[in-house]
Amino acid sequence: MHAWSVVRPGPAEGDPLRLVERPVPVPGTDELLVRVRACGVCRTDLHVTEGDLPVHRARVVPGHEVVGVVVGAGPAARDFAEGDRVGVAWLRRTDGTCAHCTRGAENLCPRSQYTGWDADGGYAEYTTVPAAFAYRLPGALPDVPAAPLLCAGIIGLRALRRTGLRPGGRLGLYGFGGSAHLCAQVALAEGATVHVLTRDPAARRLARELGAASARDATGPPPEPLDAAILFAPAGDLVPVALRALDRGGVLAIAGIHLSDIPPLRYERELFYERELRSVTANTRADGREFLALAERHGVRATTHAYPLSEAPRALRDLKADRFDGAAVLVNDLSPGRPS
Ligand SMILES: [Zn+2]
Ligand SMILES: [Zn+2]
Repeated sequence: MHAWSVVRPGPAEGDPLRLVERPVPVPGTDELLVRVRACGVCRTDLHVTEGDLPVHRARVVPGHEVVGVVVGAGPAARDFAEGDRVGVAWLRRTDGTCAHCTRGAENLCPRSQYTGWDADGGYAEYTTVPAAFAYRLPGALPDVPAAPLLCAGIIGLRALRRTGLRPGGRLGLYGFGGSAHLCAQVALAEGATVHVLTRDPAARRLARELGAASARDATGPPPEPLDAAILFAPAGDLVPVALRALDRGGVLAIAGIHLSDIPPLRYERELFYERELRSVTANTRADGREFLALAERHGVRATTHAYPLSEAPRALRDLKADRFDGAAVLVNDLSPGRPS
C-alpha cells in the first residue's frame, strides 16, 4: 500500500512527509484492519510532522480522523464485522487499570497511546485500530463531513464541558478552525450565546452564518463579559487576553495539545475574582460517543475542504497558512479500482 511517512520532522514548507510503499498492516489480536476512505487533517498532524511534538514512533504515518471500512480483524476483535463503516480517532489504547482509567478519566492514562503518533494512522490506504477504540458513525453522514468529527468535534465537546458552561451562558471562542466551528454548533444548540474572536475574515463570516452573536478580531474585548471561553488558537499570548474577557467566576479552557509560551499573568487583572484556567487533554471514549450522538441529534455539520490523499503535504501547508475555513479532509485516491 501507499502511505505518507514522517521521514524527517521539520517545517511543512520543506519535505517532512514522503509517500512510501509498505505492506498492508496486519491487525493485532484485538484490532481491526480498516481500508481508509477519508482522513481529516488535524492541527496535531502538523505538530507531529513539524516536530513540535516529540517523536513517539519513527517514520510514523499521521492521521487520526479516519473514516473507513473494516476489511479484516484479529481473532479477539469484537463488535464489528467486515464491511462495517468505522471511525478511528486519536485515543488508541489505554491500560484500563490505572487510577485514572478506573475513575473514568482514561484520557489521563499515563500508558495511553495515540493514533498517528504512537501507531500509524490514516494518511495511508489502510490502517488498524483496536476494536474497543473504534466508533460507529451516524449512518446519514457521508465520509468527508464525518471525518473531522472524530478529533476536532470530540475535542471541541470536551473543551466545552471543561468550561462548565451552564445553559444560556455566554461563551467566547478564540480561533475558529475545525474544532471551534463544531464546538460552536453544539453550544448554540444547547442555548449558549457564542462570541467568536479570530483574525481571519473568512472564519468570522462562517461564525456568523452558524449563528454566532458576534465575530471580531481577538485583539479587542468581546461585546459582553464571558462566562466561559475556549482557546483553540495555539497562541499563548491570547491567554491573558481571554482571561481579561471573563466575567467573575469565568473559566478559560485551552483546547490544543500544543501552545506557544504564555506571557506572565498579573494576578489581579487576569485571575482574581475566581477566574480559572483549565487545560484539556485528549478525550475519553465516553466523550466520543456523546459527541457523535449530539452531532446526529443537532445536525452538526463540518465545513470541509477535500484534498486527494496523494496531496496530503499541500493540505498541511494550507492548514498552517490558514488558507481555508473549517476542516481539510483527505480522500483516498491511492486505491484505484477498489470498491468502497
Ligand atoms: Zn490507565
Ligand atoms: Zn486531532
